[in-house]
This record gives sequence, structure tokens and C-alpha cells, in this order.
Amino acid sequence: MRFLTFAGSEGSRLGILAASDVLDVQILHRRLLRAEGSDPAEAIADMLGFIERGSLALARRLIALARTLPASARRAAVRPLPEVQVLAPIPRPRKNIFCVGHNYAAHIRESGSPMPERPVWFTKPPTAVIGPDAQVLYHTATQALDYEVELAAVIGKAGRNIPRERALDHVFGYTVMNDVTARDVQRQRGQWFKGKSLDTFAPLGPWVVHRSALPDPQRLRIRSRVNREVRQNSSTADMIFSVAALIADLSRGLTLEPGDVIATGTPEGVGMGFQPPRYLKAGDIVEVEVEGIGTLRNPIVAGR
Ligand code: MN
Repeated sequence: MRFLTFAGSEGSRLGILAASDVLDVQILHRRLLRAEGSDPAEAIADMLGFIERGSLALARRLIALARTLPASARRAAVRPLPEVQVLAPIPRPRKNIFCVGHNYAAHIRESGSPMPERPVWFTKPPTAVIGPDAQVLYHTATQALDYEVELAAVIGKAGRNIPRERALDHVFGYTVMNDVTARDVQRQRGQWFKGKSLDTFAPLGPWVVHRSALPDPQRLRIRSRVNREVRQNSSTADMIFSVAALIADLSRGLTLEPGDVIATGTPEGVGMGFQPPRYLKAGDIVEVEVEGIGTLRNPIVAGR
């Protein structure tokens, strides 16, 4: 099951992707509640609402309902994917995105860093998030813009001190993030935060795949391309700390909440790793892809 956020005439809307149709969750849920004699105002309107109050069973009921709609109602509730503008699945996360650096062995070697004994955490602010096809700004604050494909887990169930064996039960689903980085700023500041956090530096999407469709997140092909040239091509099997291990580590003494996003690190092949480095430039098209989820494509545009 795939959940996406798309642009409607009155702001962003939650959709379920069924084949190549986008089902409008709020419209369908309102119909369902009305049919049950419940208050249609209680209908789920967005991704965070669905993560907190929805379920796969509800999603299946909405898909079934969409099939039975008369043509007039169907036109409002079901739209072909190519006709909608897809946004970041969570356009404005409630808190910073949790990110881990140095989580693929070959990438650590290319960055010249020592192997970590524990995950190295940093964050990206909600203001950095953009969706598919949105412009990544090449800000004048940097002269070394780089890309990083990452598998991102979206938390579904709150928890603290989550044991590794149960960690994946706390995941709602998975999406893809490009951890866009200003390498010069990252290196100059001791802390990575500023170099990772400029506006548009967190392309996210194209949608969230429910964890039931990806029971093993550690065997997925993970790739990036710049202008169609493959740069990163690895497997999530090469992670040093698995998604479950990351959730267990991060949640020790720290409450994870529904809608939290955890980006799980990038494999080798970033621009910094080439001799000489191959940083991005205005006009480039960057694609980041994780098997079983999809491809997130963003153009690089000169910032002012
Ligand atoms: Mn990263």
C-alpha cells in the first residue's frame, strides 16, 4: 500500500495510490463515515492524521468504496496519478528529521572517516523539506553541493527504549530522502547541522510504502543518478546499523512519535568521493531511488 500527499485546490491532500489512480482519502473517508452514521468531520485529512488514526484495514475499505462510486462521485475522489502534483509525503514534519551519518562501510572509507562504534546522529529542519520535482536551491552559501540517497523510515507508533526485535513494528512505512549537503559548510562548522539544513536540502518522497509491503528493509537496492549517470548503486544490506538497530539506538531515552522521519545514511558514490570531487551544478537533475519504493527526482537551480 502506497500513501502520498498531493496538491489540491485547497492545499495538500492525502491519497492512496491504487494502480495508477490516486484515491482522495478525505473524500472517501467522509462518505464512509456518513454511511456509518458517524460525523464526516472526523474524516482523516492528511498523512500525519492517517499515521495516527488510520489503519491498513481502513485503507482497504476506502479502496473498496472507490470501486463502487457512481461516475460523478468518482471524478472528485479518484484522479489519475499523472494529473496530480505529488508533494513531499509529510510536507512539514512536526520536528526535525533524524539522520544518521556514516552508516555504509564503503561510504565511510570514501569520506576518510573511522568506522563508528555507535550511530552518529544529526538532524535536518522541517523547512528543508521539498517534494518530488521541486527545485533544490544551489544557495550562494556553498560552493560544494552534494547528493546522498537514503532510505527513510516513517514512525507509526510512539515509543521509548524500543527493543531492536520490535523496532520495525514502530515503523509506519518507508520513503526516500536525498540528504542534500553543502560539503564546504558541513566541514567548516564542526557540527554538520548547518551544511545539511539549508532550505530545499531534504527532498522527500515520492510516497510512503507501508511496512507490510517491505517486511525486510535490509535487502533493497539503493541508487542515485545525476543527469541519468549512475553515481550510487548499493544495497541496504551494506548498512552498518540496520533500520531496527537505528530505531533501538535513537529511542534509548528519547521518545519517537508518529510521523517522525529517520533517514538511515547513504552508500558510497557521493560527489565528494570522486577524485576530483564531482559536485552538483545548476541545471543538474538528481534522481534518488530505493527498490520497492520509487524514484525521487529534483532539479538543481541557482539560489539567490
Ligand atoms: Mn546522509
